[in-house]
Amino acid sequence: MTRPVDHRSDLPELVGLTLAALTDGNRRRGGPLPRGGPSQVREAIRATLGASPDRASMLPQEGIGAPAALTALVSAFAAGSADPADPWCAAHLHCPPLAVAVAADLAVSALNPSLDSWDQAPAATTVETEVVAALAELAGLDPSRASGTITTGGSESNLLGLLLARDAANEPTIRVFRSAAAHLSIDRAATILGLASRPVVVIPTDDRDRMRVDLLGQALAAHDGPAVVVATAGTTDAGAIDPLPDLVAAVDDHRARLRHRRPPGGHRPESLGWLHVDAAYGGGALFSDRLAELLSGIAQADSVALDLHKLGWQPAAAGVFLTPRPDGWPSLRAAQADYLRSDDDEDAGFPSLLDRSPRTTRRADCFPIAVTLRALGRGGLGTRVDACHELARHAARTIRADHRLELAFPVTLSTVVFRYRPPSTAARSGEPPAPGRLDQLNAEIRRTLLVDGRAVVGRTRTGPDRAVQLKLTLLNPDATPAHVDALLALIAATGDELASRDHDLRDDDMDEHATDEGGVP
Ligand SMILES: *Cc1c(COP(=O)(O)O)cnc(C)c1O
Repeated sequence: MTRPVDHRSDLPELVGLTLAALTDGNRRRGGPLPRGGPSQVREAIRATLGASPDRASMLPQEGIGAPAALTALVSAFAAGSADPADPWCAAHLHCPPLAVAVAADLAVSALNPSLDSWDQAPAATTVETEVVAALAELAGLDPSRASGTITTGGSESNLLGLLLARDAANEPTIRVFRSAAAHLSIDRAATILGLASRPVVVIPTDDRDRMRVDLLGQALAAHDGPAVVVATAGTTDAGAIDPLPDLVAAVDDHRARLRHRRPPGGHRPESLGWLHVDAAYGGGALFSDRLAELLSGIAQADSVALDLHKLGWQPAAAGVFLTPRPDGWPSLRAAQADYLRSDDDEDAGFPSLLDRSPRTTRRADCFPIAVTLRALGRGGLGTRVDACHELARHAARTIRADHRLELAFPVTLSTVVFRYRPPSTAARSGEPPAPGRLDQLNAEIRRTLLVDGRAVVGRTRTGPDRAVQLKLTLLNPDATPAHVDALLALIAATGDELASRDHDLRDDDMDEHATDEGGVP
C-alpha cells in the first residue's frame, strides 16, 4: 500500500478513499472556512499530522500506511480549507476548479511528465506547444510565430516578460514603468532581474484604477533609454483595464523618439521599447464575446501574462506567458546542459522546451488546460466569465441601493470593492467618523466573518487616502444573485453590530435606541 503509484492497482482504491475523505471534510467544515480562526485550525491540523504538543516532528519512524494517512489527512485538509466552491468564499482570485480539470490533473500526477526534455514528456511537449498556440491565437497573436510557455502563474509570467524585455534592450539604461495599481510581482521581478537599480517608475492611476496615459507619456518623454511599460489588464483590486491601445501608442512614440535621437543603425523596435500586458486576471475576458473587446490592443503587446487558475477554473498552477517574438529567449538559452538538450538531437527532430522556463523539472500543467479547452470550448468558458461579470454587476447594484455600503469603483470584470459606513454617520451631515475608525471597522467586519467561518471577504486599501475597503472577487459562476445579496446583507449586519458596540461611531440617538433594546453591553 505504500508502493509508488501503480495506477492499475492501488490508485482506484486510494482515489476512492480520497474522494470519500474530501466529502467528509467538506461536511465537517460546513461553510466556506473552518470556524475558530488560526489557532484552532493550527491545533486541528497539527493533531492530524501527529505533531505532539512538545513539538515532536510529524515524521514518524514507522508510517501508518497509505489508507490511514490519506483518510485522516485529506479529511482534515478539507475541513481546514477555504473552499472556493462556496458562494461566500469571495476574497481572492481563487477559483473553484472544474471537475474535468481536477480529473485531468490526476493523470498528470500519475504519469509525471517533465517538460525539460522530450524523453521525459513526449506527449506533453506537443500538448504544451499546441495549448500555447491556441492561447496565442485567442489573444490575437500570430500562432505560427508566437511562442510561450505554461508557468506557475502571473508572477512567473511577469518575470519572463521583464526578462525578455531586458534581453531585447541589452542596455543598463532600461527602465520599468508601471501603474500604481500594478501587481507586486512586477517590482519583485525588477529586483530579481537587476532592473531596480534605476527605480521603477510608478505612474498614478485615475479614479477608476487605470494608468494615467498622459502621465506615462510625460514620464517616457523624460527618459532617454529603452523602456518596458507594464500594462495591467484587470487590476488585482478593481479589475480595471489600462487603456491598452493608448499604451501601445505611447510605447511606439517612445521607440520613434529614441530611434530619431540615436546614431543610425538597425534598431529593432523591441530593443527600444517593450509593452508587457499583465492580463493575469483580465485575460479571461478573451473567452467572452461580450467582454473580449475590453482587451483590444493586447495583440500589439511584446509579451502577455494570462492566468487560467483565475478566470479559467484550473487547479493552480496554470499561468501562461506569450510573446509574438519567437527568438526572444536568449538568457534562458544561454545556459545549457547536454543531458537535457543537444543541437544534434534537435536537428534530428527531437524538440526541446528547456529554454522556455527558468525551471528545470516542469510539471505538465498544460494538460488540464488542454482537456478543459476541448471539453468546454471558448463558448463554455465565455459563458462562465459572463456569469461572474453579471454577478459583480448585480452586487454593485445591491451596494448602491444600501445606504450603509459605498462602492469604490464601477465594475469592469468580476470584482466589487466597497466599504461599510455606519448608518448614523452616513445619514447625518455632521462629523464623519475619523477615517482610521472606518478602516478599523471594515477590517474587523472581515475578521469577524473569518473567525466565524461564515464568509471569506477580501480587503485592500485604495484611493488617495488609502482607505480600507472590502472586496468581493466573484469567480464562482454557479453562485446566484441571491447568494451575493445574502452575503452583502451579512456584511452590513455585521458592520451594524460592530458599530453599535463602538462609542466613537455612535451618536446619542443610537445610544438611547441601543439601550432601549437592551442589546448592547
Ligand atoms: C494574480 C495576479 C498576478 C499574480 O499571479 P500568480 O498566479 O498569483 O502568480 C499578477 N498580476 C495580476 C494582475 C494578478 O491578478
